Amino acid sequence: MAGRDAPVLIAGGGIGGLAAALGLAQKGIRSVLLEKAAALGEIGAGIQLGPNAFHAFDYLGVGEAARGMAVYIDQLRMMDALTAAEITHVDLGDAFRARFGNPYAVVHRGDLHGVFLRACQESDLIELRVSSEVTGYVQDGTSVTAHLAGGGRVTGALLIGADGLWSNVRKQVAGDGTPRVSGHTTYRSVIPTEQMPEDLRWNAATLWAGPKCHLVHYPLSGWKVFNLVVTYHNDAPEPVAGKPVGEEEVLQGFAHVHERAQNIIRHGTNWKLWVLCDRDPAERWIDGRVALLGDAAHPMLQYFAQGACQAMEDAVCLSHVLGAYPDDHETALETYRAQRFARTARVQLLSRAIGEHIYHPSGDHARLRNDIMGAKTSENYYDDLAWLYGGTGLAH
Ligand SMILES: Cc1cc2nc3c(=O)[nH]c(=O)nc-3n(C[C@H](O)[C@H](O)[C@H](O)COP(=O)(O)OP(=O)(O)OC[C@H]3O[C@@H](n4cnc5c(N)ncnc54)[C@H](O)[C@@H]3O)c2cc1C
Repeated sequence: MAGRDAPVLIAGGGIGGLAAALGLAQKGIRSVLLEKAAALGEIGAGIQLGPNAFHAFDYLGVGEAARGMAVYIDQLRMMDALTAAEITHVDLGDAFRARFGNPYAVVHRGDLHGVFLRACQESDLIELRVSSEVTGYVQDGTSVTAHLAGGGRVTGALLIGADGLWSNVRKQVAGDGTPRVSGHTTYRSVIPTEQMPEDLRWNAATLWAGPKCHLVHYPLSGWKVFNLVVTYHNDAPEPVAGKPVGEEEVLQGFAHVHERAQNIIRHGTNWKLWVLCDRDPAERWIDGRVALLGDAAHPMLQYFAQGACQAMEDAVCLSHVLGAYPDDHETALETYRAQRFARTARVQLLSRAIGEHIYHPSGDHARLRNDIMGAKTSENYYDDLAWLYGGTGLAH
């Protein structure tokens, strides 16, 4: 039995779970965050942040700290990986910031996670527990109890499943099987800036789009390193996460692209491989006192660079509704789901479509892409992206 002041339980200490804990603390709501790993942290590479992420940082009380970690890039630049010619770019300067009220930036995942973690550690309302894998839950009319691997039990008022792509909480809430394997293999490397070809040290998030493959690079951590992510649509059948691989394997999928693009890969080191997964949008996010958030609710391919941004928006929305309906969890959680579902579904589906029609087409399809995208101005792109970058998590 949980009283009115019982904490909210949060499964998962990724960006989504920590953001949720901070948002709840902003509303005076206590939480206990249960993380499976033995330590709280984020591995690896960079993350792009649309202006909608900055709205979330401010709402969650970490705006200043997060802004201090970011590299503010000047452009989103798109190159044709076959010809090494620019297809188009989006300016991210004053006009962009004026339009969306916030910048576009890139940040090291570890730095961003650290900003959230420190803020959580400083809050009296947040308890962080590691080595605490949530395996399932039981609930009654007044409380929910999370079951932990190893036999522990933790009881609270609500349970938020922020436990990522392979969420155990989702298994019980939605019961909709395993994620969809996309067949897209992503290799990631972080390289010191001095190892990046000098003529490519652009202050831009650069996409080289080629047939069934693409490369992305941008500077990180005060320009100390470049984040390098290259993807090959090779119909890989099994999910993989973080497997170390050699350069030869990475180059295999890029033999057909321009030497200048291939050369970027040769500068990478310590490559790691992921086979990407996502899901079709599914509306079942709520089961009584239990709700899903972030990748557990709406896992998406990374082509819109929005998974973490959407998880933070979820955290904003969830805390807002729990603050607004403190005695009515049913209305609160249903309002959260209703406000978040269509927007996140749109990002999920468009992320796939972007992969197919922008990142990976070949032949006539690619020529059509180049014609359409090359004819657009930055202002045209601002209009196209207004629904996304103008959002805050508090509206549909
Ligand atoms: C290659 C790539 C590039 C990307 N680039 C971007 C980008 O540029 N911009 C962007 O916004 N997003 C990007 N994303 C997406 C982003 O990384 C994710 O959407 C985001 O990290 C999801 O956060 P989360 O907290 O929901 O889940 P996760 O980060 O997966 O965190 C889940 C946490 O829960 C823990 N956990 C798991 N199971 C349990 C359990 N049963 N009990 C307790 N704890 C558990 C895990 O250990 C982990 O700490 C990218 C993703 C990929 C793969």
